[in-house]
Amino acid sequence: MKKHNQQEIDRRRTFGIISHPDAGKTTLTEKLLLFGGAIQMAGAVKARKASRHATSDWMTMERERGISVTSSVMKFNYRDYEVNLLDTPGHQDFSEDTYRVLTAVDSALMVIDSGKGVETQTEKLMEVCRMRNTPIMTFINKLDREGLDPLDLLSNIEETLQIECAPLSWPIGMGKCFRGTYNLYRKQLHLFVPGQETRFSDGIVIEDLADPRLDELLGSQAAELRNDIELLEGAASPFDPAEYLKGNQTPVFFGSAVNNFGVQELLDAFVEQAPGPGPRATATRMVSPYEEEFSGFVFKIQANMDPAHRDRIAFLRICSGKFRRGMKVRHHRIGKDVQIANATIFMAQDRTNIEEAWPGDIIGIHNHGTIKIGDTFSDKEPLKFTGIPSFAPEHFRRVRLKNPMKTKQLDKGLLQLAEEGAVQLFRPLMSSDYILGAVGVLQFDVIVARLKDEYGVDALYEGIEFATARWVSCADQKKFNEFEKKNQGNLALDAEGNLAFLAPSEWRLGYVIEQWPDIVFHKTKEHS
Ligand code: GDP
Repeated sequence: MKKHNQQEIDRRRTFGIISHPDAGKTTLTEKLLLFGGAIQMAGAVKARKASRHATSDWMTMERERGISVTSSVMKFNYRDYEVNLLDTPGHQDFSEDTYRVLTAVDSALMVIDSGKGVETQTEKLMEVCRMRNTPIMTFINKLDREGLDPLDLLSNIEETLQIECAPLSWPIGMGKCFRGTYNLYRKQLHLFVPGQETRFSDGIVIEDLADPRLDELLGSQAAELRNDIELLEGAASPFDPAEYLKGNQTPVFFGSAVNNFGVQELLDAFVEQAPGPGPRATATRMVSPYEEEFSGFVFKIQANMDPAHRDRIAFLRICSGKFRRGMKVRHHRIGKDVQIANATIFMAQDRTNIEEAWPGDIIGIHNHGTIKIGDTFSDKEPLKFTGIPSFAPEHFRRVRLKNPMKTKQLDKGLLQLAEEGAVQLFRPLMSSDYILGAVGVLQFDVIVARLKDEYGVDALYEGIEFATARWVSCADQKKFNEFEKKNQGNLALDAEGNLAFLAPSEWRLGYVIEQWPDIVFHKTKEHS
């Protein structure tokens, strides 16, 4: 591959932010976009979030779509880098969507509230990152408020998330006494001036902490900083880029997103250290981003982007080769060649049609119901990218129709929504029920609204006794048949025809697992 192409690929950084709601993800996103010149004004991203609060608002907004589309992928330039920031839905009820977005990134940024330490949603998202050894950089936010002791925060991260911390900056005081940070990576002092949202700020270079300028600038807090750094040398690990890239170590920065403090430091280290597009696994072989042939996979589908057209957009992550507008690619699951006439790339505030795109980029392609999550597109070779999971649902509802004449529409609607990943659909072996499974209950509200809007179906829910599900498989067909026969009442087929065991309680599931040692119960399932 030509040198030019390699440069295009290597300068791409594709990442997502993982955090617990309220840690500051939206604020940080906005500041990152400001640095990238992608938005002119603070407040643009925030305004968007404000309208996303209540379920009803969320749905209205989803219908209006334009807004949420642009927030799905945000592209901006910073220095010589092309950055793709993939939005990860913050609400835990849409976490499945977030998990899948994380399969399309090359690294992640973790935001932690200094007053709270590691919170539950971050723990879950971290588990997903660990499945792929995704490198993670950490930003500890809200230093302008009283929070936990910085060393305690690091131990909290190390213990809860089982990842080594390597601080690259260190805070000087906090809350009312917050004076700034000392950048251990650059050996620069950054002084904090509250409320000052300067876009670019250079630190003051202080190579040696014994430098008396430190005392002039920080007064009595200079001694405190020296003390802390000395302590750190014994207590914290030095930054090791290789360990970061393996997902074993996380470099840590401190700052205050709302004050735009520490963000540039973070972004500089991020573009320099975070990995560009790397090789990706398929069912048959690893695919290098530098390969000439185009390939990519779909990790997200969003319906109704344009209310006038009722179309859907499939978000495709490019893994190799170069995308050119109008190119023909093979859609392997259905074995057809398709011409991609119009692909959309998502800038921070609008969608633009593109002429070309590279590995690491995300393109949106129009979909009239033929594309499913997990689908691979490539030049010719029948590839199948792996590692795009579904998660065992934790909530279940039985769907009832108000008008039984609409069964066909319901069938179609549920199948399409399931393929899109908006919900999981199960058909019990013993009845003709439609059972929906979700990771978060809010998904159910969205489904009912969309069934009505998009398919003209009035549906309602009934509670159902299931509490958990596992996909099942067994190497021994005879044993599997026996299991199937004995457990028919609890078995159902999902939208892709995979057999799942639905259990009324965790206890019951545990019991059945014990009873049937030859059966494998899977908590996640790969899209086939
Ligand atoms: P998200 O839910 O993670 O997207 O969090 P937001 O970015 O919406 O932030 C949650 C709240 O924390 C908002 O009220 C922000 O203004 C506030 N916030 C964000 N960053 C900071 C910070 O650095 N310091 C303080 N004091 N508040 C912050």
